[in-house]
Amino acid sequence: MIDGGGWPTYVVLGRQGSGKGVQCERLAARFGSAHVSTGDALRAAVRAQTRLGRLVEPSLVRGALVADDLVTGIIADRLALARSTRSGVVLDGFPRTVAQADQLETLLAPRSIHLAIHLDVPPSVALDRLFQRRVCAACNNSGPATTCERCGSATDVRADDTPAAIGQRMTEYAREAEPLLAWFETRSLLATIDGIGTPNAVTARVAAAVSASRMAGTAA
Ligand code: AMP
Repeated sequence: MIDGGGWPTYVVLGRQGSGKGVQCERLAARFGSAHVSTGDALRAAVRAQTRLGRLVEPSLVRGALVADDLVTGIIADRLALARSTRSGVVLDGFPRTVAQADQLETLLAPRSIHLAIHLDVPPSVALDRLFQRRVCAACNNSGPATTCERCGSATDVRADDTPAAIGQRMTEYAREAEPLLAWFETRSLLATIDGIGTPNAVTARVAAAVSASRMAGTAA
């Protein structure tokens, strides 16, 4: 099940506010991989008002999921690039549904996903984080501060971090998460990590899960 190649594909799963973005960024840095966030790609398309951006903007503002084929198209392009450069990818926000997971499996074949890391955070903790979250337009860092702690630029509230859109996104997550986690579990690809604690504490748990899966892959 574990693909032992040098350009791994990791998936990071978790509800909104679970800290996926930070952990994906760190995991990608560790492997020299690309951090591929479908949410970031869609927001960039909206900012640039491309055809895709205009199409998905109403769904993003509402906090509703975008059609599977649109996000799968983004992922297919990024995986093709990774394949041509033989570099790894860390997927952030994809797959969100079982249909997307099936499409990912097909896109990767004959290779496979290395590991899906599920950052487990209860809704109450995630909601607290989301209601405080501000994002830096310059470097994409997020946190509660009005000035980015990483680059010093001004931060802003994300367009979909409104109470209504947060509610909608949490509802979507509740509907899709269980079958999606089960999809990974049945393939022995799931590592569930406690997502509560400082980013560094969570990173240490992610690193331990990744090392354990690589050891298992070597032993297999
Ligand atoms: P995120 O930044 O991951 O919270 O995603 C922001 C928004 O982008 C979501 O609320 C959806 O509207 C859309 N989106 C991101 N990834 C996906 C996906 N895999 N499938 C469908 N919609 C997505």
